[in-house]
Amino acid sequence: MTSVKRTELSMFDGRQIFYYDSVSVDRIAVDKRPFEERPLPGEMRQDLLTGEWIAMASHRQTRAFLPPKEFCPLCPTLTDFGTEIADSTFEVVVFENRSPSFAAPSVALPKEVVQSSGRCDVVVFSDKHEGSFGTLPLTQMRTVLAAWIDRTRAISQLSYVEQVFIFENRGEEVGVTLNHPHGQIYSYPFVTPRTEKMLAVAKEHYQKTHKPLITSIIEREIKDEVRIIAQNEHWIAYVPFAARYPFEIHVAPKKFVPDFAELSEDVADTFPVLAKEVLQRLDGVFGIEMAYIAAWHQAPVRQGRDLLGLHWQITSIRRAPGKLKYLAGSESAMGAFIMDLKPEQSAQQLRDVKL
Ligand SMILES: [Zn+2]
Repeated sequence: MTSVKRTELSMFDGRQIFYYDSVSVDRIAVDKRPFEERPLPGEMRQDLLTGEWIAMASHRQTRAFLPPKEFCPLCPTLTDFGTEIADSTFEVVVFENRSPSFAAPSVALPKEVVQSSGRCDVVVFSDKHEGSFGTLPLTQMRTVLAAWIDRTRAISQLSYVEQVFIFENRGEEVGVTLNHPHGQIYSYPFVTPRTEKMLAVAKEHYQKTHKPLITSIIEREIKDEVRIIAQNEHWIAYVPFAARYPFEIHVAPKKFVPDFAELSEDVADTFPVLAKEVLQRLDGVFGIEMAYIAAWHQAPVRQGRDLLGLHWQITSIRRAPGKLKYLAGSESAMGAFIMDLKPEQSAQQLRDVKL
């Protein structure tokens, strides 16, 4: 890893916690909360009609929902209230989710149950309670990137993980239950339905052209020009040709790379400036904080490594001030999207934002 230092410590219930620091500090804070047994992993069931896996995470119903700042579990520990992070200051922290949808396999569960094996991590972007990825200082964004890279490499080594999914949700409209700036890492024991589909399309494309699909897509975006929002030496941001949401932005490295594990330091170094610009443009469209889902697509751990390229998909469900795009009949039941705005128009709106 670059100059970012990682310190691994243990939480009160045995979960792992990693501190990532761009300056050298000794992390020794002890989690003083009384020991508690960790919940067993849940089960997975296969949808009999589609073959898709559904994780049954009913134990998650009791998790914290929008607590006030003084009871925020992602803030540093400053009072007698022990948060998830025992230290009184930190830069970026990653720890295992306390109520995970996927967890390490357990021998305690009966054999007939298909376990939701995998892992769920929380990535805390800052020790400040307000903000989101795009409002972090550039150096801090780079530290988050270092954490994503380091965790993708480590989790990819777990025998029961097939795919590592890194994402950030912002805004209560998209189901955020904690306002503190953070993201998550879902590590699945299967390849997700959307990724399966993308792999199939990319495979067909590769057989015809001997090129990864994302490489051809970027070539087309550069040629068409009209949907590009921003770019620099190593990254390009554009509204995809057939966007599904009024404000959907894809950001990809110009040179194909399957995942964070293989992202080079110099390409990573140029990401924060572009990411900040893109997120500022998104907020600038209506002059309000846009609720969004920022999702990192990565190649699965053990297949399609030369087919699926790393890229960042930001989708906002807001289509106008005071108006959200709901997934209605066609989208929810059939998976067939109806888009209210031409992608070229939304790219123009994003480009026109004065920064
Ligand atoms: Zn907080």
